[in-house]
Amino acid sequence: MKKYDVVIVGAGPAGMTASIYAIRANMSVLMLDKLAPGGQMVNTNEIENYTGTGKINGAELSMQMYEHTQELGVEFDYKTVLDIKDNGETKTIRCEEDDTTIEARTVILATGTIPRRLGIPGEDAFAGSGISWCAICDGAQYRDKNVVVIGGGNSAVEESIYLAGITTSLTIVTMFDLTADPKACDQLRAMPNVTIYPYQDVLEFTGDTALDGVRFKSTQEDGTERHVKCDGVFEYIGLMPTSDCFQHLGILDDFGFIKVNDEMQTAVKGIYGAGDITVKKLRQIVTACSDGAIAANSAAKYVESIRG
Ligand SMILES: Cc1cc2nc3c(=O)[nH]c(=O)nc-3n(C[C@H](O)[C@H](O)[C@H](O)COP(=O)(O)OP(=O)(O)OC[C@H]3O[C@@H](n4cnc5c(N)ncnc54)[C@H](O)[C@@H]3O)c2cc1C
Repeated sequence: MKKYDVVIVGAGPAGMTASIYAIRANMSVLMLDKLAPGGQMVNTNEIENYTGTGKINGAELSMQMYEHTQELGVEFDYKTVLDIKDNGETKTIRCEEDDTTIEARTVILATGTIPRRLGIPGEDAFAGSGISWCAICDGAQYRDKNVVVIGGGNSAVEESIYLAGITTSLTIVTMFDLTADPKACDQLRAMPNVTIYPYQDVLEFTGDTALDGVRFKSTQEDGTERHVKCDGVFEYIGLMPTSDCFQHLGILDDFGFIKVNDEMQTAVKGIYGAGDITVKKLRQIVTACSDGAIAANSAAKYVESIRG
């Protein structure tokens, strides 16, 4: 069985950048993803803060990064990784498809995050048919309709600007005030069809057979309860790490993010973390790319050391 110098799990910006640095360090590289390369970028409408590209659509940036990996000859496969075993100088990666097993000297874990859910009444009933976590995928259904966005961080505000441009009304309901980049907040506040309710607890999604509104209550002294009618809801309330299959390796913090040092090395020799899945302060494309580059550089040095 072929043993790769490095297997990269996840082909978001962290994984793809790691693959570029790894192959340029003369390592044999296999990059795996259960979905199309790009990670969360695929579902992002407009990216305005990635150095050098100017304003760019997320799917387009994903394609540019993927083409770059292919120009350099990175091997890519669609696989869902279920388990990673550490056998010292060999790591075994087990995948769902045909119960495949792959061997590698090092592994870079770049599996990112998935959206957090509120866990309130009505959420399960309307998930995917009224409630969405992806404006770029589902936003077009709500053209000229009324939409509520839950959340006030960067993702919520950026996606609200896009949604407000196509919907009749957009209402933001958020636990605190808007916490996104000030420029984006100003842009959103200036849009004529936007209403913002800060300091709210979302209580329930309402509707019989279809979603018809959101009930929420002020966390301020007055405690006013409101019901806003809408055709669709987009939730942007934070991210959960995609790390279930690495739990047994003992490399996670209490919240499920991978603990790494400044070389992106985990507590297990030869296993590295990169991107949103790691413990970090700023989860963005540019920081994911940076992590990927560092992880690949560290992996290359380790492979060199065990080869002697
Ligand atoms: C709505 C939204 C808007 C955003 N806008 C911006 C922006 O404007 N600018 C910016 O810089 N950042 C933005 N971000 C953040 C940015 O997208 C992330 O920081 C970045 O994508 C993280 O990259 P990553 O490679 O670490 O993880 P991800 O992009 O999450 O990629 C992880 C990949 O791993 C794969 N994977 C997971 N588990 C497995 C498994 N078991 N087996 C195989 N594959 C697996 C996933 O399918 C995915 O492709 C936005 C995020 C969201 C949600």
